[in-house]
Amino acid sequence: MFKLLGGDLVGMTSVPEVVLAREKEMCYANISMVTNFAAGISPTKLTHQEVLDVMAENAENLRKIAMRAISIIDPDRGCLCQDALEKLNKE
Ligand SMILES: [Zn+2]
Repeated sequence: MFKLLGGDLVGMTSVPEVVLAREKEMCYANISMVTNFAAGISPTKLTHQEVLDVMAENAENLRKIAMRAISIIDPDRGCLCQDALEKLNKE
C-alpha cells in the first residue's frame, strides 16, 4: 500500500516519543536507520540477525552524526519547544 502511495521507506513509528517530548516541552529530533526490506518485499526471509548486522555496520556512522549534531546545535537558538504547552493553552 505504501508503495502505491509513493513511499520509499516504512519505519517503526516514533509517534509516541514525539508526543511525550511535546508534553515535556522538549526539543525532539529523530534519526532513523534503515536495516532491511519490509517483509513481503525482501526476496529472502527476514531474520533478526540481519537487522543486528546492519545496526552494527552503521553504529559508528550513527554515533558520528549524533555527535556532530550535538556539537553544532546552539542551545540558545530560541526555539519554541520549551513554551509549547503554554502557547497551546492560550489558543
Ligand atoms: Zn526545540
